[in-house]
Amino acid sequence: MRFSSTTLAAGLRGDETVHVTVDPSSIIIPSDLLPSDGRFGCGPSKVRAEQVLALAKANSNLLGTSHRQAPVKHLVGSVREGLHELFGLRKGWEIMLGNGGATTFWDAATFGLVRERSQHYVFGEFSSKFAEAAASAPHIGDPVIVQSDPGTHPAIEAPPADVDLVALTHNETSTGVSMHLRRPEGDALVVVDATSAAGGLPWVPDEVDVYYFSPQKCFAGDGGLWLAACSPAAVERIREIGHGDRWRPASLDLNLALDNSVANQTYNTPALGTLILLDEQIKWMLANGGLDWCIERTRSSASRLYSWAEASSYATPFVADTMQRSSVVGTIDLADTVPAHDVNAALRANRIVDTESYRKLGRNQLRVGMFPAVEPDDIACLTACIDHVVSALAQGPA
Ligand SMILES: *Cc1c(COP(=O)(O)O)cnc(C)c1O
Repeated sequence: MRFSSTTLAAGLRGDETVHVTVDPSSIIIPSDLLPSDGRFGCGPSKVRAEQVLALAKANSNLLGTSHRQAPVKHLVGSVREGLHELFGLRKGWEIMLGNGGATTFWDAATFGLVRERSQHYVFGEFSSKFAEAAASAPHIGDPVIVQSDPGTHPAIEAPPADVDLVALTHNETSTGVSMHLRRPEGDALVVVDATSAAGGLPWVPDEVDVYYFSPQKCFAGDGGLWLAACSPAAVERIREIGHGDRWRPASLDLNLALDNSVANQTYNTPALGTLILLDEQIKWMLANGGLDWCIERTRSSASRLYSWAEASSYATPFVADTMQRSSVVGTIDLADTVPAHDVNAALRANRIVDTESYRKLGRNQLRVGMFPAVEPDDIACLTACIDHVVSALAQGPA
């Protein structure tokens, strides 16, 4: 058993004191403070019960059936059409998909989207990964890196003339910084990692060429798939490189992925459960009012979290610039006297999970996923639970 580093000096006789510690996992949060659902992770994230019901229902017609036949192709078509509508895409845009998640898309992009040289805006763990993939790819030039400290993002500027792809990140999940997407000057493709943003933050398709993501964040699905909304210019780039003689592994070939996607298929077998969960979430978003509704909902969650932290004596929003503060991933620094490790352990003992900060950031911090599936009122409950835990840790054993 690990005991809290929070100690209380309890007077025994006169000047003699003894330090008693609280085991965080012994703290019981009163049930009237608890959220309706305790999943606040940043991916995998809360899956709604209705999605799981859709999965159970799909056992009669979709699960366990061929992805080359009409029922599954219909499902893929429904996902593609639903995303087209959700993002308000014009004719000529294509929704692509393939196996492997956003991480795999970085490798695929080095083969099938970067012509000669890419530029990367790096401001956290995820944005650095695509830059690393580009730097290690022998068939393209050294990438240009524009960097800023964690908790901020770099300003968008015109890229050098030899850059043909600009890589942006809509929401840096490791730090809780979101970026307003804007096309820089020039005609480089604008390729956006929207893994934790897609479906929860606003964007304007005219400012972007590729908007890619995985389904286990705002879309409340499961991992293992990547999706990418591609502008006509992006489709043209994929065809241009695809018809050239650059070697690429078939499973990372975006030209093959595009051929399959427009036929409502994937190059190899997809996880059907992931597609079913995703399709159900897209339908839920559309039925409630589409992307604007989702954005309103995540903003409402975020305002509950950040206003609590701003008023708190021991919690502070990590991202200082309110314009860069994400409404889908909230990062909250705690005072040194309040170890996040203990707070998380106490929350977990009460079935409130995945509020840990990003491990490599190394801060005394909580991180909260506020994707559309999360009830804004549950964010208010979460803050009340944190307050309860912190006061219980400070008071010592009952
Ligand atoms: C989660 C995440 C990824 C990685 O997604 P995988 O599905 O695990 O490959 C990449 N970028 C961002 C911004 C993310 O939040």
